[in-house]
Amino acid sequence: GFSGMAQQITRENAEEILQNIDNFLFDCDGVLWDGNGPIKGSLETVLRLKELGKQVFYVTNNSSQTRDHYVKKCSNYGYSVKRDEILCTAWIAAEYLRAANFKDKVYVMGREESVGAELDAVGIKYTGPGVRCVLVAFDPHINYTKLIRAASYLKKPDCLYLATNEDSAFPSTNPNLAIPGTGCMVVPVSLASGREPIVMGKPAPNMFEVLRKVHNIDPSRCMMIGDRLDTDILFAKNCGMQSTLVLSGISTIDDVQRPAETTAGAVDMQPDFYAENLAGLGMFI
Ligand code: PLP
Ligand code: CA
Repeated sequence: GFSGMAQQITRENAEEILQNIDNFLFDCDGVLWDGNGPIKGSLETVLRLKELGKQVFYVTNNSSQTRDHYVKKCSNYGYSVKRDEILCTAWIAAEYLRAANFKDKVYVMGREESVGAELDAVGIKYTGPGVRCVLVAFDPHINYTKLIRAASYLKKPDCLYLATNEDSAFPSTNPNLAIPGTGCMVVPVSLASGREPIVMGKPAPNMFEVLRKVHNIDPSRCMMIGDRLDTDILFAKNCGMQSTLVLSGISTIDDVQRPAETTAGAVDMQPDFYAENLAGLGMFI
């Protein structure tokens, strides 16, 4: 149903946010940086929140890199970041299988340098016979042979099916360029096998469950800040967190100002708050 329009961040509601929120979860691409490098004012806002004693987490759907990659990237950009503050879907998938005490082999459709490295780190094998899990991630070398293998393994009903994320496309600085996302690699595997994956990334609640297990945090005192309604904001809603959309990435002001759909079954993706960019929160705190 209708849940009210998003409020632009002002001095007044920024103060309320600081009172009500202990944990800030930041989406990465489109919030902290984009294809051109860091987004102006984002670092200052995050550092200020930390100075105010807020717990900060970095939550990205990108499965083409490892957690260690993000530790380095964040550090290079000036964020003083600890490993367990980073949640990326290659690591989350490995963590999911580790927690499930998975002992068989995984068939990975994705980058060995990211998903493979994270599986190595938890001792899960992804070559050789005995496959009982298909894991689809961002794979720049997707091909027909891989699709046949993935779909064939999934013919066995006891073969687990995981997808790191289902992002449809990625932002590009060139408006004439459409860059297919991991969702475009998941769809043919699902279609050919007749199966639906368990999704690791946003908007599925799994990333938050991992966070809650380790840090024991209360979702009602969390703010998810992202640039996409269908991943970040829906993730916040699915987990009971508050949400802020920043307009420095994919979703636009028109998306925000459109009232919640009235059609039966429509999903409410209206954020609680919105701002031009992260600096739009930083300027008030
Ligand atoms: N997956 C890939 C392969 C990407 O390149 C990106 C953005 O660059 C994303 C996902 C989206 O990442 P985020 O969740 O940080 O916006
Ligand atoms: Ca993003």
